[in-house]
Amino acid sequence: MANTYLVKYAEIGIKGKNRYKFEDALVHRVIERTDRVDGRFRVQKEQGRILVEALTEHDEDELITGLSHVFGVSQICPVTEIADKDFTHICEALVEHIRGRLGNKPFTFKVFAKRSDKSYPIESPDICVQAGNYIINHMDNASVDVHHPDYKVFVEIRRAAYVYISGFPGAGGMPVGTAGKAMLLLSGGIDSPVAGYRIAKRGVKIEATYFHAPPYTSERAKQKVVDLAQIISEYTGPILLHVVNFTDIQMMIYEKCPHDELTIIMRRYMMQIAESIARQRECLALVTGESIAQVASQTMQSLAATDAVCGMPVFRPLIAMDKQEIIAESEKIGAYETSIQPYEDCCTIFVAKHPVTKPRLEQIEESEKALTEIMPPLVAEALNTCEDIWVSPR
Ligand code: ATP
Ligand code: MG
Repeated sequence: MANTYLVKYAEIGIKGKNRYKFEDALVHRVIERTDRVDGRFRVQKEQGRILVEALTEHDEDELITGLSHVFGVSQICPVTEIADKDFTHICEALVEHIRGRLGNKPFTFKVFAKRSDKSYPIESPDICVQAGNYIINHMDNASVDVHHPDYKVFVEIRRAAYVYISGFPGAGGMPVGTAGKAMLLLSGGIDSPVAGYRIAKRGVKIEATYFHAPPYTSERAKQKVVDLAQIISEYTGPILLHVVNFTDIQMMIYEKCPHDELTIIMRRYMMQIAESIARQRECLALVTGESIAQVASQTMQSLAATDAVCGMPVFRPLIAMDKQEIIAESEKIGAYETSIQPYEDCCTIFVAKHPVTKPRLEQIEESEKALTEIMPPLVAEALNTCEDIWVSPR
């Protein structure tokens, strides 16, 4: 078990003058994440990376998995610290570190040295050569490969010396909270949780809106959405979930509008309501799990008809993904098993047998005229009775 972990980040390292803002945000996200791991940790920024020091016993796998879910982290490397920086100690620690990580399995390596402490008597190229020789002389299972090493071996001379090898991959992306806030339309399906994950990965904080239609959709269907929000919150931190009672609106559309246009009209109302909540909550965009041609309501014509009622940008991160690719990502983030639980959703209950696939906006607007008088109070009521639930990671 290591005591110290080096957390590397990639893209935020190139953000110029604003770099410190991204770094500070990442440090905060790392602190929040380590707070949820058993044990006590000290997190500090240190020249282009973050050091996480364990102050107590801890489960290394739990810590590494947790850190790998923080957006902005590119790699997590358990390191051994050599406080006295004595070169022999460094080499000994290096061999011990590699043995601890890799056991006796054969591996190829290349040494990389970084000497931030310029007063250190051995220069970087010599550190590489001497440390490399030491490893070969002390480990039968090691051989050098300077072109395609299995492991990069790092020796860094800073205020202390650190040795480590290629670490565990992080989630990548940007720290949540550095790119504004957006409202995710979260259903109980496979797609929208993945869409939320993808947007959050770019640093966007998310809230979520779910349209619930009791008694046609059950408490269990709602709980499934809460569960999905909780899975996303593992990566994003706590999510405020707005649950809108959509039953009366849906019934009214069913009663007054042509049945082959139900889905599209319903979706237009969902977007308008989500946008109202988004504005109250200072979100800058809406996010959905739509992808072109997946179903009738996701043809280009249908997407255009839904966009037409929106006054803020609608982001659809899955727009050009195949279902199989979305499923693979859903599995990767741990949402799939929950998403496929068989609870009805409000769209499936009211769908027509033959929905329009190429709605004309004028035609839809014409059909919606039947709702002009009746709908505003129902929408106001839906907004007033909206239930807000804070969903926190486990
Ligand atoms: P998903 O798997 O995300 O449910 P889907 O393939 O079932 O998507 P639709 O049912 O057409 O597709 O929904 C398209 C998008 O609309 C969803 O990805 C989601 O963003 C939003 N949406 C659909 N139903 C709801 C709902 N009941 N509450 C909130 N958002 C919804
Ligand atoms: Mg759905």
